[in-house]
Amino acid sequence: MSKYYDEARSFGEKYLAPFAREADQKGAFPREAIQALRENGYFGLVIPEAYGGQGQDIGAHAEVCTALAEWDASASLCYMMSNVGAYCLSLYAGEKLKQEILPKVASGEAILALAYSETGNGTHFYLPEMEEVTEDGYSILNGRKSFVTTAREADYYLTISRNVEDGSTNLWVVPSNTEGLSFESNYDGVGLRGNVSDPMVLKDAKIDHFYRIQGNGDGDRLIFLVGLASSSAGIAMAIAREATRYVKERTYSNGRSLGEIETVETNLAELYARAYAARETLFAAAYNVQSGAEDGFQNVNAARIVTTSAAVKNGSQGMRLVGGIGYVRGKNPMERLMRDSLGAQVMAPGYDVLRVWLGRQLVGLPYLKGID
Ligand SMILES: Cc1cc2nc3c(=O)[nH]c(=O)nc-3n(C[C@H](O)[C@H](O)[C@H](O)COP(=O)(O)OP(=O)(O)OC[C@H]3O[C@@H](n4cnc5c(N)ncnc54)[C@H](O)[C@@H]3O)c2cc1C
Repeated sequence: MSKYYDEARSFGEKYLAPFAREADQKGAFPREAIQALRENGYFGLVIPEAYGGQGQDIGAHAEVCTALAEWDASASLCYMMSNVGAYCLSLYAGEKLKQEILPKVASGEAILALAYSETGNGTHFYLPEMEEVTEDGYSILNGRKSFVTTAREADYYLTISRNVEDGSTNLWVVPSNTEGLSFESNYDGVGLRGNVSDPMVLKDAKIDHFYRIQGNGDGDRLIFLVGLASSSAGIAMAIAREATRYVKERTYSNGRSLGEIETVETNLAELYARAYAARETLFAAAYNVQSGAEDGFQNVNAARIVTTSAAVKNGSQGMRLVGGIGYVRGKNPMERLMRDSLGAQVMAPGYDVLRVWLGRQLVGLPYLKGID
């Protein structure tokens, strides 16, 4: 396995794992974990070296996000969102905007979040209803984003709005101290509870055109899909790991352990095989995209389908192996992992939409249909 995965895996065990349970129980931002990632240069992973980053690409992003998700999927998701934002800025922002933001992210001083989803467009987050009115040198943004991972905690929020005059959609970076920016507090997730994914409101927020990102496209969409898939791949592997640990430790009065029962062993084999296949499919797809392979996008869609399904199946099967205490809150990590595994199904583009996208790609049609 590559050094990115191995290093991040060791790092996650030491600096993320100890805080995962508390963040889940309290539904609190994983502050210690994110601080450790800030201090150890992780937020600079995909930022070009010219801006103080490590200049890595989608493959390393997949490896690191997966390895971190094996220990705390909430912290990993907050981290991956910032990577996506940084990658998007690296690709599309003007030089001055890059100079202002990227070195701060690379050094861990600032982190980024993505505020795209809205209630009115649901899973079709690329069709914003947030309104934008152009004035001389700035725009006024009004609207509400329904879920923003790292809400309140990020320093800049990438958001998408629709220009009321010409109907164009535009991408912006909104600094956290912008007047008119506020958050509602209502995220009480079933899983991924450390994400603080609260709604964000922009009310008459005046954004200088300096903060407009010039382009947008598949480049950052792919790193986003890979990041979401990494979360599921990490959770699937964590479930295999925790189930194995548990069945070896769990003994009956007669001294016999669960791990000696053949049915339990074959269940473990299924958990591991599924997680391993999902992880390797994802890594292969991520490196395919990185190398510019023609079928890279459809490989990533396939990997996101495979990893989502692996995590959900492992969550259910893993909980069964842990038995009664796997169904009780806070007694065993399996219960949190099972809840965390479910999120990827609904995070846009969700499981059903992904299958539509991939199917359309396979028959040679444009993958985006809009809201039908
Ligand atoms: C933990 C968490 C963190 C999140 N973080 C962020 C974030 O940081 N930034 C952000 O912008 N958003 C974030 N989201 C929002 C997430 O992307 C939304 O859940 C998503 O936009 C789905 O919106 P919706 O629930 O309105 O789905 P809806 O549009 O109501 O869709 C519901 C379901 O209908 C089906 N469906 C809808 N349309 C189609 C179609 N065309 N084809 C096939 N099936 C379809 C699917 O099964 C879909 O799951 C987060 C969500 C969660 C749960």
